[in-house]
Amino acid sequence: MSWERQIHLKNPAELKVMREAGRINATVLAAVKDRLQPGVATADLNAAAEEVLKSYGCTSPFKGYGHPPFPASVTISINDELVHGIPHPKRKLREGDIVSVDCGTILDGFVADSAFTAGVGEVSPEARKLLEVTEGALCEGISKMRKGNRTGDISAAIQKYAESRGFHVTKEYTGHGVGRQMHEGPQVPNYGRAGSGILLRPGMTIALEPMVLVGTPETRVLPDKWTVVSADGSLTAHFEHSVAVTEGEPLILTVL
Ligand code: MG
Ligand code: MG
Repeated sequence: MSWERQIHLKNPAELKVMREAGRINATVLAAVKDRLQPGVATADLNAAAEEVLKSYGCTSPFKGYGHPPFPASVTISINDELVHGIPHPKRKLREGDIVSVDCGTILDGFVADSAFTAGVGEVSPEARKLLEVTEGALCEGISKMRKGNRTGDISAAIQKYAESRGFHVTKEYTGHGVGRQMHEGPQVPNYGRAGSGILLRPGMTIALEPMVLVGTPETRVLPDKWTVVSADGSLTAHFEHSVAVTEGEPLILTVL
């Protein structure tokens, strides 16, 4: 893909806008998380997200993206659905589901991109462990977002964290640079070799997004041409933050 090569360093003023976009994105996701209850339709979750986006005068880059155009502002993926699930009025949450919600926010020409997975009511011990490990893998990846490291350090950290705990990472969907475009360079897979890849420099902004599966790393796409599911029907989870490399600590853009 062409965006692999397009790496754009952001100046402090641009980072400030991206931080604000990230704050709004976090607000949207918090509003959706508050509504995760049995019986709620995924289309209603999308409507709640759009209401918050609208209140800030923002839109999501997801709406109209790709072919066929994605019809909603958030993706909602349940249980074996790894990413890119399409919200629908008839798709209702059930007790024990794990729900992945991914949202983007465009503010003043810059994009924030972030996702979480959470349980509906009580979830199984396996599901709980999957959520912990996937979020932990994201934290590991973020800890490598330092000047002088390479993208392979992030990838290797995510892979090691998930696989050493008995889970699998997808090879087919990756983290990515984020900025004026939702997908910029560099590409950051959830697997790789430490010390390889692109050198991290202050001003680089990357959406890190471990996608973790219980059974195997294999996935397939449903006939709706969007929803990605685990090939074996096993549970999956997805956590994502947009993060900036600075002179010092990594700056997580997509928190409140
Ligand atoms: Mg995302
Ligand atoms: Mg992303």
